[in-house]
Amino acid sequence: MSVLDLARAEIRAMQPYSSARMEASGGQVLLNANESAWAPAGDDGLGCNRYPDPQPAALVEALAGLYGVRREQLLVGRGSDEAIDLLVRAFCRAGADAILIQPPTFGMYAVCARIQNATVIEVPLADDFTLDVDAMLAAITPTVKLVFVCTPNNPSGQGVPRASIERLLQELAGRALLVVDEAYVEFADGGSVADLIDDHDNLAVLRTMSKAWALAGARIGCLLANAGVIALLRRIMAPYPLPLPCVAAALAVLSPAGQAAAREHLAVVRAQRSSMCAAMLQLPGVRAVLPSEANFLAVRFADAGAAYRRLLAAGIVVRDVRRYPKLGDALRITIGTPAENKRVLDVLQEAASCP
Ligand SMILES: *Cc1c(COP(=O)(O)O)cnc(C)c1O
Repeated sequence: MSVLDLARAEIRAMQPYSSARMEASGGQVLLNANESAWAPAGDDGLGCNRYPDPQPAALVEALAGLYGVRREQLLVGRGSDEAIDLLVRAFCRAGADAILIQPPTFGMYAVCARIQNATVIEVPLADDFTLDVDAMLAAITPTVKLVFVCTPNNPSGQGVPRASIERLLQELAGRALLVVDEAYVEFADGGSVADLIDDHDNLAVLRTMSKAWALAGARIGCLLANAGVIALLRRIMAPYPLPLPCVAAALAVLSPAGQAAAREHLAVVRAQRSSMCAAMLQLPGVRAVLPSEANFLAVRFADAGAAYRRLLAAGIVVRDVRRYPKLGDALRITIGTPAENKRVLDVLQEAASCP
């Protein structure tokens, strides 16, 4: 059985839209896409009068090298959010199929499922925020087509051991696609599981340039998976998903100089994460800091609402995650520059000394 047998039959059968750029490439005089023959003002040689390559060759090549997969195993899109949406639409029949998630976790999986009218089955993380693999497997029914696992998890920050991913892959073979969201893996000690794609056609890995690569504004994210899954998703993807300026920004970040700068900032974030964790634990209003392998800390407060308002009054916006299960007393604080992090500590310290 192929993993594609799990996908919606009508998507597998449909004739995808064939864009002008797909039907013919090359040539010097381009009169096949009703574009303007003139570059727009301020174009600076970018060529924005032309539709972009649906999957820009240079970007695909650079990202495949970075992530250690073959080009046909990679799909670039508008952030990994787009890949989540494409997966749900390709695999879940509205009103019939389901996804499985482990709250507290990233909200987009459930949102995309609800838009598609797919059921969301929840198997909560254990009290120590580890994955309950036995409970997950017990919750799998034939309607569950996608299992999302976020590692390191947002908003708790904890990573999932590779052995758990391998066990899930084996148990889910022929039953469901395992989608491992590695949005924060660059900040973690453990590496990616993308090397398992060759041996497991039911593995999909999400990567993004929004976090460690400082490109949240350019919206560049990837799905790494079996070539058949990638080809299937391309059938339902928008014809020209990637704006030329965004592709140029991504290529600049992936240049040797760009990568060196990003790695420097990565080292700063990791060092600041441990010093912030230690400093937070010294603050009287702080009950606990969850261990984090990402670029944020989930912090438990005696009064999280008051801490949130004090920070906000000082111009510092953090994420109130009290609505998430098991995090009713927590705020999620992104690691910023050393100066920004010090301001957070100063504000919370002041609050503690003069309540
Ligand atoms: C930030 C984040 C993403 C990234 O989304 P993009 O659309 O690539 O910006 C994906 N998954 C998780 C868990 C995140 O926290």
